[in-house]
Amino acid sequence: MLIDTHTHLDDARYDGDREAMIARARDAGVETLVTIGCDLATSRAAVKLADRYPFVYASIGVHPHEVRHIGDGWYDELRRLAQHPKVVAYGEIGLDYHYNHSPPKLQRERFREQILLARECRLPIVIHTREAQEDTIAILREEQAADVGGVFHCFSGDAWLAKDGLDLGFYLSFSGVVTFQNAGMLRDIVQTVPMDRILIETDCPYLTPAPHRGKRNEPAYVRLVAEAIASAKGTGTPMRLDEVGRVTSANARRLFNLPNGSPPA
Ligand SMILES: [Zn+2]
Ligand SMILES: [Zn+2]
Repeated sequence: MLIDTHTHLDDARYDGDREAMIARARDAGVETLVTIGCDLATSRAAVKLADRYPFVYASIGVHPHEVRHIGDGWYDELRRLAQHPKVVAYGEIGLDYHYNHSPPKLQRERFREQILLARECRLPIVIHTREAQEDTIAILREEQAADVGGVFHCFSGDAWLAKDGLDLGFYLSFSGVVTFQNAGMLRDIVQTVPMDRILIETDCPYLTPAPHRGKRNEPAYVRLVAEAIASAKGTGTPMRLDEVGRVTSANARRLFNLPNGSPPA
């Protein structure tokens, strides 16, 4: 049993076969999916999908790329969406200085505001950080985000960020990047992270794991991420795949306050 903690199921790339793609995930042992909003429209879409499928949960919020679009009424609408019983997290939020689709100063302001909003809504945060490690940690400390809690999604940072994030009580979620041939440093970090703080995700349709790189990603492939964690965690012999599934699923249930057991299909 696996939980894919970070998907974008509403993405237009699934418009032709969304139903079949979700069925493939269930067949591959993915019991629960969390689908993530990046702006107002995708947050609404995430909630809609959570309404439609008993095993899909939603996270709502505004991605650092999109924060320049935040306008009148956005936070009120997000507050309203947060009341939905299947909204289990706030995000993805954070900082992305790689593309700077939104100006960095604005990203920092909106990150702080949204941490406050998550605190108000009593939701853990899903953090996106790219080429902004120092500022991300500084803001999390200054906003006392440790008591909001959450996860560094698609963790691909340095060892010090892993340590500081863990010290603040956050989970680290690993994606298909851990399967990449050149990701030896990331697999070394996986070895150092306590098993009870690891989540797994696909971030689909992005970041397709090996050996499917170059193709569209989908939640069924979260198994490949779990396999990479299993082999990184083993010393000599890999950890058992079902053990990785069991522990990471328990972690996801704890963080997102998900009900126990497999909900009806
Ligand atoms: Zn992200
Ligand atoms: Zn994402």
